[in-house]
Amino acid sequence: MENWKKIAARSLTDTDVVAQKFGLDIEKLRQINKIFPCRIPRSWMKRFTSPQDPLFRQCVPDPAELQNNKELLDDPLGEVRFKKSEVIVQKYPDRCLFLVSGECAMYCRFCTRKRKFQQPFIITQKDIDEGLHYIHQHRELRDVLISGGDPFMLDDDALEYILHGIKTAEHIRMIRIGTRTPGVLPERITAKLVKMLKKYHPLYINIHFNHPDEITPATCRALKRLADAGIVLGSQTVLLKGINDDPEVMRELMWKLLENRVRPYYIFQCDLVYGTEHFRTPLCKAQEIIQALRGWSSGMANPHLVIDLPGGGGKVPVSVDYLQKSENGKLFYRNYCGEEYIYPDVEV
Ligand SMILES: *Cc1c(COP(=O)(O)O)cnc(C)c1O
Ligand code: SF4
Repeated sequence: MENWKKIAARSLTDTDVVAQKFGLDIEKLRQINKIFPCRIPRSWMKRFTSPQDPLFRQCVPDPAELQNNKELLDDPLGEVRFKKSEVIVQKYPDRCLFLVSGECAMYCRFCTRKRKFQQPFIITQKDIDEGLHYIHQHRELRDVLISGGDPFMLDDDALEYILHGIKTAEHIRMIRIGTRTPGVLPERITAKLVKMLKKYHPLYINIHFNHPDEITPATCRALKRLADAGIVLGSQTVLLKGINDDPEVMRELMWKLLENRVRPYYIFQCDLVYGTEHFRTPLCKAQEIIQALRGWSSGMANPHLVIDLPGGGGKVPVSVDYLQKSENGKLFYRNYCGEEYIYPDVEV
């Protein structure tokens, strides 16, 4: 067995161990484990210092998950509505999601696709072939986002079958993969995997990172390996209360990503997933973060901060108005530090 598989197999899926170690409610955690399973990498478990730790909060079940509020949903992004086959979701005119794996190296407590993990989320060869068929039939598609679960939980061969299958559709102009493995299972990024991936350029990989502490030396090595293979790396971050809803934490995360050749791509307002009320932040927090990054840090450290609208509306940017007013063709702007400047517009 490959080393990364052994490491993944040793991750913690039994909540009793963590409950005992930190004096948590054993019964409640077991109950949660039935709703949305737990999987904690040993490398993370070793680093927890307290239940307030940003790594702890992302992966250890919390009794707050049992509380619900009727606004929170099973399928917050309306993916069921846009489902084109078992594994294809197409919401936009020229791109689609291809859900190829039902597993992750860690289960994030705020996962948007939580519903999928309730029963074992099994994707069959037939599902994959139907997905590939859809991609070949739909000539309007320009890019395919391979997601899941985590696509890197598949074997190299299974992943290559998918990449090759997509690549043979001539209308597809680039492939994207979404993964969390560089931060939670960096051993997965083997030389062999990267050598295979390189054959499928232009390939973009978007990596889920929420806190600077996730970027360990092993993670840096995994990122370097991917970047050295010419793969363009981007990041996706979920804004989470008590974890990264702080301009200082967010700025440090963006900088650590840039230092490791990952271009910050998206920060998401936390989706309305059932049992995640304790992670939600108000919109003004998102705006505060945008304002703390814009101008105060390199433009490269400014990802798009978006809300993926409930019901399937897609992503919309959270905006901050720098335009204060307009008068007689003059636009009154406030810059990043609050000073006013006037821009004369041209007449239409
Ligand atoms: C997020 C998403 C995409 C990709 O959106 P981009 O803005 O192009 O990164 C595509 N399809 C679905 C269903 C999505 O949720
Ligand atoms: S890695 Fe992604 S798909 Fe997997 S549990 Fe976390 S958020 Fe969900």
